[in-house]
Amino acid sequence: VSPSIPLNVSKYLIKNVTVAKQTQAQAEPARWLGVEQGVLQGIGSKADWNESEWPIVIEGDGMTLLPAGVDPQVHMRVPGQKQKETADSCLHAAIHGGISALLTMPNTKPVIDCVQVLAQGRAEVARAQHGLPVEVLFSAALTKGQRGRELVDFASLVQSGVRFFTDDGVGVADDALMSQIFAQSHALGFTVLQHAEVPGHGGILAPSSVQEHLAVTSYDEEVEVAMVVRDLKLLARYPKAKYHVLHVSSVRTLEPITVAKAQGLQVTCEVSPHHLFLTGDDIRIDNPAYKMNPPLRSEHDRAGLIAGLQSGLVDFVATDHAPHESEVKGQFKTAAFGTTGLDSALVILWELYLRGQLSLPRLCDVFASAPANFLGIGDQHGSIEVARTFRAVMLKTLETGKPWEVSDLHGLAKNSCFLNIPLRGRVAQTFLGCDTWKFASP
Ligand SMILES: [Zn+2]
Repeated sequence: VSPSIPLNVSKYLIKNVTVAKQTQAQAEPARWLGVEQGVLQGIGSKADWNESEWPIVIEGDGMTLLPAGVDPQVHMRVPGQKQKETADSCLHAAIHGGISALLTMPNTKPVIDCVQVLAQGRAEVARAQHGLPVEVLFSAALTKGQRGRELVDFASLVQSGVRFFTDDGVGVADDALMSQIFAQSHALGFTVLQHAEVPGHGGILAPSSVQEHLAVTSYDEEVEVAMVVRDLKLLARYPKAKYHVLHVSSVRTLEPITVAKAQGLQVTCEVSPHHLFLTGDDIRIDNPAYKMNPPLRSEHDRAGLIAGLQSGLVDFVATDHAPHESEVKGQFKTAAFGTTGLDSALVILWELYLRGQLSLPRLCDVFASAPANFLGIGDQHGSIEVARTFRAVMLKTLETGKPWEVSDLHGLAKNSCFLNIPLRGRVAQTFLGCDTWKFASP
């Protein structure tokens, strides 16, 4: 799957690289970093290191070094959907995208709704992790078979280490059931991830010129807003319950979230790169990857989500990486929903940074440290710190944008809504402790 060869290197020096951090207002001058046994020894200048003592010297060449990313919403399709993605292909895509850890979604075949299926998924991932040391956390379903009727056995799954539950792909429609879910979250301490979509609307695309042209049913924002409003009303009764809104697509959804945060409820939300970068009017009907759930909305929504991300109201970015085999992505009207995102997330955020829409410290935060903290792995992932395992990504900026191509995708599926869009960033090298992957320069 991958054209790159991983190098296992116990001691190396990276020279002449610009280190981007969460705290600085601007990128610092070029730095030299030494890594031994996978642990960062120091960040200094040329004078701090004796280059001849280092068996491997990596030329940073003025590129930017960022903390490796953490993706809290990935459809790895494990177990059971090998035609869409495998653990191996997913981890390759993550490494190519500069991502060191991810949370995978439970809408698999069978659904991850009990400890037996969870164990099956974990075993498949463990096999792939030999040589691809991306950390993978599993979420589990809220309801059996994600049918929205009967709750899973939360206690046994929490006992097995699951801390995130979701019926992602569908929203939980039943009020009484949602209330019971929050009661369980309050009691057991797990986080509820809601795919906010009141079922039964039949919409395909948000209102746009393309939606009118295709004459498909409109997927209105009210479908998303209404479920979040309902959930926050229920959540208020359970102060220890934790609620997270997946892939917010409408700026109006941010209004009740703003109020709930001000009230001190334990609520967080995320947005996906495609909703930050594209609108419904950008949809190209020759590429069914533009059809995703929730759909691309207006420029007003896109700009509002960017503003929310920059201000901190939106907590972090998640890709909603949703690979599909080409057979179910054929015609636009009948295609399955979803775009991939692991390979492209950083490159898209980088383009937003280059356009002045996202600051560099906030980019590091929303791509790496904030999702790492959300997943409870912030002590291992999401920042570049001395005396810690070195997990980082080196990014090259092209002078002019080069179209994103199928060859830039390293998962099994090739459904990306970013194909043919000129982008300036390219991942040049990923570092995960003792392992590093150097990619062919574009
Ligand atoms: Zn979803």
